[in-house]
Amino acid sequence: MKLYNSATRKKEDFVPNNPDIVKMYTCGPTVYHFAHIGNLRSYIMEDILEKHLRYVGYNVKRVMNITDVGHLTSDADEGEDKMLKGAKRENKSVMDIAKFYTDAFFSDCAKLNIKTPDVVEPATNCIDEYIKIITKLMDTGYAYFAGGNVYFDTSKLERYYIFNDFNADDLDVGVREGVEEDTNKRNKNDFVLWFTKSKFEDQALKWDSPWGVGYPGWHIECSGISMKHLGEDLDIHCGGIDNAFPHHTNEIAQSESYLGHKWCNYWMHVLHLNTNSGKMSKSKGEFLTVALLEEKGYDPLAYRLFCLQSHYRKSLVFSWENLDNAQGTYMKLINRIAGLKPAGEAVDEEAFKALRDKFVAALDNDLNTSLAVTALYDVLKYQTNDDTKLAVIADFDKVLGLDLIAKADKKREELKKHAVVAGQFTIISESGEADAEVEAKIQARQDAKKAKNFAEADRIRDELKAAGIEVTDIPHGAKWKRI
Ligand code: AMP
Ligand code: ZN
Repeated sequence: MKLYNSATRKKEDFVPNNPDIVKMYTCGPTVYHFAHIGNLRSYIMEDILEKHLRYVGYNVKRVMNITDVGHLTSDADEGEDKMLKGAKRENKSVMDIAKFYTDAFFSDCAKLNIKTPDVVEPATNCIDEYIKIITKLMDTGYAYFAGGNVYFDTSKLERYYIFNDFNADDLDVGVREGVEEDTNKRNKNDFVLWFTKSKFEDQALKWDSPWGVGYPGWHIECSGISMKHLGEDLDIHCGGIDNAFPHHTNEIAQSESYLGHKWCNYWMHVLHLNTNSGKMSKSKGEFLTVALLEEKGYDPLAYRLFCLQSHYRKSLVFSWENLDNAQGTYMKLINRIAGLKPAGEAVDEEAFKALRDKFVAALDNDLNTSLAVTALYDVLKYQTNDDTKLAVIADFDKVLGLDLIAKADKKREELKKHAVVAGQFTIISESGEADAEVEAKIQARQDAKKAKNFAEADRIRDELKAAGIEVTDIPHGAKWKRI
């Protein structure tokens, strides 16, 4: 498999350190609010990566943190803790907020068929890990204590900027307005490893440490949690592009200074989902959540398909019109799959392999998901039996996660339910909708035809057409749809 590595700015062959297990780490959500669908774009594409790795035969151990402390309103360690802000907004405790929004996050993920990582670890569970790392960084001179906080000294590194080919907009480090510059820092990019009460009196969660009662910085969480569960090396680290700097840059700085060797081999960054008016936000404009999509009548999986239709390394513009198109495509796809009839025939292994090879080749090429979706349409067009097609689609869906087979089965059942059978004559509603009046007219037309009253049959067909109903004759019946 080839994967674009942000650290080398090249598409590289993916070779895990240990062929038996791929170690994968994902930056998890800051649970102070609902995830917006931009956040979820990152998690969908990371889910595709994990599922594809498994699909081609790797064992994967995937770890994700839950940021429930230490992520300040500016990613550059300034401002207020986002969790505290959430707690104040809702007049609840920080722990209540964390629990509520962690559950909400996984419920959104479930609706989008995003698999829960093997290990999910809240940052507040691993304080000892951070203290161990920070202690060594202090002992080896990579960290210093100033004004009540412990900072990482970026001037000690030969190379600090790892991901420096992104544009300034993508590297924007969050809210800066109204945030004072931290004069304790020796260098502009130094970042906080441990905060103490001296600077942020109002922090709700605090722990004892060699540097005073306080709490960890955001970046140290991911190094600590990753090392706790995956050891001293990592194959792939993922996150949205805004995490590349300063978050991931700082993770590398502290992890490699602590370990004394290279930490992670491949960095995967998902570009942002934006709106027509720019960056997606939880506070400005429409707060785009999975709940809002559902409220407006969209299937969350239509949003997943929308994400799959474009490449993760391109920014993507969200609009309701774009989502309408994706929903239309999704519904048509389900209808076409529902049109395949399982007949208990043997799977055509040659066809299966040819189709699968194309699908794998698309995803092996730096996760070309839009080509993988095209490979799905190839299945529908392929000259083979329907049982084979259904088997291939079920197989692809292990990665695509679009519930294609279950939705198509349901559709087939609906069609059956809405098929009115009168003797040998069956009336099928193509959309699955039942309409007694339309069905009665179609039946009357059939009766007229049987009585050889073709003028009356045509009159009824024209009447239905004028009402926006198209009737098509099929063997032993008729099907209808609105046009
Ligand atoms: P947060 O909850 O803010 O820590 O972010 C969770 C994940 O969403 C991180 O991987 C971010 O990089 C990613 N992210 C934030 N905004 C967007 C966006 N507009 N589009 C895609 N990913 C995003
Ligand atoms: Zn992280």
